[in-house]
Amino acid sequence: MTPHLNAPSPSVTTTANKRQWLYPRVVKGRYYRWRTGVAWIFLAMLFAGPFLSYKGQPLFLFNILERKFNFFGVTFWPQDFYLVAIGLLVFIVFVALFTVIYGRVFCGWICPQTVFLEMVFRKIEIWIEGDYNARRRLDASPWTTEKIWKKSLKYSIFFLISFLIANTFLAYIIGKDALLTVITDNPANHLVGLTTILLFTGVFYTVFAYVREIVCTTICPYGRLQSVLLDKQSVIVTYDDVRGEPRGKLVKNEELKVKNKELVVNDYSSVFIPHSSLNKKGDCIDCKLCVQVCPTGIDIRNGNQMECVSCTQCIDACDDIMDKIGRPRGLIRHDSLEGIQTRKPWRLTGRMIGYSVVLVLLMGVLGFLLWSRSDLDTTLLRAPGQLYQREKGGLVSNLYLIELVNKTHQVKPVTFRVDYPGATLRMVQPITKAPADELTKGMFFILLPEKSIRESSTKLTVQVVSEGVVLDQVKTTFLGPVQ
Ligand code: SF4
Ligand code: SF4
Repeated sequence: MTPHLNAPSPSVTTTANKRQWLYPRVVKGRYYRWRTGVAWIFLAMLFAGPFLSYKGQPLFLFNILERKFNFFGVTFWPQDFYLVAIGLLVFIVFVALFTVIYGRVFCGWICPQTVFLEMVFRKIEIWIEGDYNARRRLDASPWTTEKIWKKSLKYSIFFLISFLIANTFLAYIIGKDALLTVITDNPANHLVGLTTILLFTGVFYTVFAYVREIVCTTICPYGRLQSVLLDKQSVIVTYDDVRGEPRGKLVKNEELKVKNKELVVNDYSSVFIPHSSLNKKGDCIDCKLCVQVCPTGIDIRNGNQMECVSCTQCIDACDDIMDKIGRPRGLIRHDSLEGIQTRKPWRLTGRMIGYSVVLVLLMGVLGFLLWSRSDLDTTLLRAPGQLYQREKGGLVSNLYLIELVNKTHQVKPVTFRVDYPGATLRMVQPITKAPADELTKGMFFILLPEKSIRESSTKLTVQVVSEGVVLDQVKTTFLGPVQ
């Protein structure tokens, strides 16, 4: 049997339109230990993120209500939207490149859905209800006191953790101080905030208690993108059918015969003598442990499937079996489909190189834009519906509205200068300073000597100066009578 990309899945999540509940078996092994370590780091960062600050600013804030965003303590405003757009583009190309090379590693290792489900909720479930058979038996049993107690305990803890995630999620949006006010102040004053927390709690609870792997197998669009992104050179979690087939139950005498002839080959990436060529059987003993541990309920031996989240649990399970029967590890491993078939080492493809070049270029552009991003953003508009006015002393005036966004964490004293001969400025709504991380509005007249006006619409430049340094300059037009 040849593994193939996007084989139809032997989906076990539904049977005759009825969902079949999955009971993944507890797995142990090196990949699972590494994933646990990665998950702890991820969870620590996720929960600490909104509560950490840098120079008085939250490290991360995604305040869509006030359109204010903080990444690593740097504040981004709606005026910086082009940076966010390029950042998103870089992220998409990065994910595409990563998927082309390494498959769906993101899903199994750092996707919040998998991390929470497998490393938090599943562990609690196993702690309370036991391993796969115990959980299956408990679900099938009538509602005894033990079952009511276990289910109540489990779902109460699930609800509490969902509540905690919902609060953290909201802290990322409104900030930790606003969240503290919502949960400590009089509830009547924060009905919207409290309702949002309860709504998020309900969503997280439903996802982790009931929807579970369906998010990865059916709802998430990223999984479906695999058919476009993966090719035969992509390194994925895959079953070595050349070595494993024909599968069959282990027969002790056959096993001894093979061992005595020293046919156990450890380096399957170079010269390989299939076990099957000598005793007619492959290395897969059809124990189905790889299927039992799979959190999406698939059989990796049927080829690469969209439902596979690259969690590597089947690798750990199979390695353990290989250790026990004295075969080399890696019957299920990270390899490309081409590598499995040809036994040749992995190589870069044209597509990978192309994506890498685009990624490097985009990162260069993003880096340059971030580096050259101005500290102050100015918007200057002529007051709508107003033309020019003649004033004493042969002057003509236009009224302007100005908005300053100070993107730094320091207050900046500001003055304005008009770069035009004989031009003066008269403040109506003065701005003398731009407060840190704030938007300030002002209003002023620009006055020009009438005799210097040559066009009905004169082009001007207004400079924003702070302590002798021009922080920003904007172009505008001045309406006036033509001589
Ligand atoms: S765990 Fe390994 S040996 Fe067992 S069925 Fe799966 S592939 Fe075959
Ligand atoms: S097939 Fe293996 S890597 Fe893929 S989801 Fe199942 S256990 Fe995880």
